[in-house]
Amino acid sequence: MERTFAIIKPDAVERNLIGKIIERIESKGFKIAALKKAALSKTQAESFYHVHKERPFFNDLTAYMVSGPVVLMVLEKENAIADWRELMGATNPADADKGTIRKDFAINLEKNSAHGSDSPETAAFEVSFFFSGTEILP
Ligand code: GDP
Repeated sequence: MERTFAIIKPDAVERNLIGKIIERIESKGFKIAALKKAALSKTQAESFYHVHKERPFFNDLTAYMVSGPVVLMVLEKENAIADWRELMGATNPADADKGTIRKDFAINLEKNSAHGSDSPETAAFEVSFFFSGTEILP
């Protein structure tokens, strides 16, 4: 079993897409090991996305991530990291495959509805950034 970290981003929460996205997650065989709704602070968003600190879009991205509530999740299944990224689709919805979350729901490259860890190291950091051990129920 592998764990990954997922966010339903503000654009999707705002448009009442939580249920539709979770439906896709569960029907692909992921177990939701942890889940909570949260309003990120700017400091949290900046720490979470610290790898993008030098990027020109860092300020826009972190402002967007605090623009409304998000849903934070720990997902479990075999190959969870790659499978969740596949289900989300490419970062830019214009490049995302048919049937992916970003193709079907995202607004644009920034407001792309979902986040997923990109490696085991990132997943471990991101899960522990938002959840304590006792909140994760495999
Ligand atoms: P991800 O792993 O697919 O989420 O993509 P990245 O790690 O490359 O980027 C993190 C997030 O930053 C993306 O999901 C987008 O929300 C946002 N983002 C990426 N590239 C751009 C960009 O060029 N402009 C803006 N405004 N946001 C971007």
